[in-house]
Amino acid sequence: MLYNTLHRRKELFEPLHAPQVGMYVCGPTVYGDPHLGHARPGVTFDLLFRYLQHLGYKVRYVRNITDVGHLEQDADDGEDKIAKKARLEQLEPMEVAQYYTNRYHDYMDKLGVKRPSIEPHASGHIIEQIEMIKKILEAGYAYEVNGSVYFDVRKYNEKHHYGQLSGRVIEDLMATTRTNLASQDEKNSPLDFALWKKAAPEHIMRWPSPWSDGFPGWHAECTAMSCKYLGQQFDIHGGGMDLLFPHHESEIAQSVAAYGEMPCRYWVHNNMITINGQKMGKSLGNFITLEQLFTGKHDALDQAYSPMTVRFFILQAHYRGTLDFSNEALLSAEKGWQRLQQARQTLERLVPQDTSSVAEFLETLAVKCQEAMNDDLNTPMVLAQFFELVKHINLAADKKASFTRADIDKARELYTVYIENVLGLKEEDGQSGAQTDRMDGVMKMLLNVRSKAKAAKDFATSDQIRDELSALGIKVLDGKDGATWQYE
Ligand code: ZN
Repeated sequence: MLYNTLHRRKELFEPLHAPQVGMYVCGPTVYGDPHLGHARPGVTFDLLFRYLQHLGYKVRYVRNITDVGHLEQDADDGEDKIAKKARLEQLEPMEVAQYYTNRYHDYMDKLGVKRPSIEPHASGHIIEQIEMIKKILEAGYAYEVNGSVYFDVRKYNEKHHYGQLSGRVIEDLMATTRTNLASQDEKNSPLDFALWKKAAPEHIMRWPSPWSDGFPGWHAECTAMSCKYLGQQFDIHGGGMDLLFPHHESEIAQSVAAYGEMPCRYWVHNNMITINGQKMGKSLGNFITLEQLFTGKHDALDQAYSPMTVRFFILQAHYRGTLDFSNEALLSAEKGWQRLQQARQTLERLVPQDTSSVAEFLETLAVKCQEAMNDDLNTPMVLAQFFELVKHINLAADKKASFTRADIDKARELYTVYIENVLGLKEEDGQSGAQTDRMDGVMKMLLNVRSKAKAAKDFATSDQIRDELSALGIKVLDGKDGATWQYE
């Protein structure tokens, strides 16, 4: 069962062409560093991708890179987000897009998010977008003004339903849509959205088209690229809830207008992350990049949190529920993730017994995990089951429960299947953020003692500290500004 935003209910998932599954997810607009807000859709759709594969489906997962056409405030006017960044940093726009695409990949890799099967760029599919716009014009659902092409929402709404996904009512939208005077002159209605924009003379990112030298509107890319790689109708379209309107609503309108059908059967949306109950935003000063999160270098952070702690934190909540970020919540996720990892290590050290006190429990656990995942990816339930397993493992270590060889193998397999493969939580060889901070503190103290000993010409003590650390695999490096250390 998967919750379908379109019908506002959980529905049995039936692919159009089993065992093939086509899934399209809106990817990042690459003009800034990946942040906490990117982590949730990244992990959520990675989870769905992994679970569908676990069930035996052959998934073609398409996630795009928006490198053109996404204007400020998601509006039809204003500067292109990437062009603006390029202007500010005096770079070629594609340099900006490439740099932040690489950063996005690096940080998604750290979070254990698998790369999609196809990752198309909007700028590489201008021809496909122009062809789609031509179809919409032919069907009579768009009009051209001064070299720009706009989608005619009111005309579309005469036969179809603009608002069916987001539940918005067109009359209300008319009353509340903020209009920008410049494009209002061109549009028949403030609800209409740009399919093609004529480029101003100073605009660098431009392509020839039948209408003008210009660039596609933001919504056009997803419709054109999902159709190219997954067909006119495919199984799952995903994204964050913030994309429901106008982005996904407009994608539906474009598909229906150009191809005569809804692009997909299941619309899946993850909820947002708030910070201490507030919406995250650059202007609010509570904007945390993944780099800051993993290094702890941000005023709002008490310490660094490891990528798997962040992944665990996200999976502890159901993807459709709100998730509030705070140091307390992250610390408790870190503890939970450590308990889960420690129990797995304890499991490996258990001495197998002849009789079992957990065989039945392990059977039920396997069934319950599957039921939970089948119930709209209920990851909190899966984790709750595993914490029951942790209890049994720890009891067994105290000789209050008994695992046979077969039980140990079964528990190990459950860990591999659910924790590693499905939830994508990989044991981290490094240490947790809190442990790293503690280690840094201890080493600073030790190197201080050593430098005092050296100053007092007590070389026996300073050498002893250096040699004993070396025996532990820690190398002390003496430099001009004092000593530093690293793992050997
Ligand atoms: Zn999209």
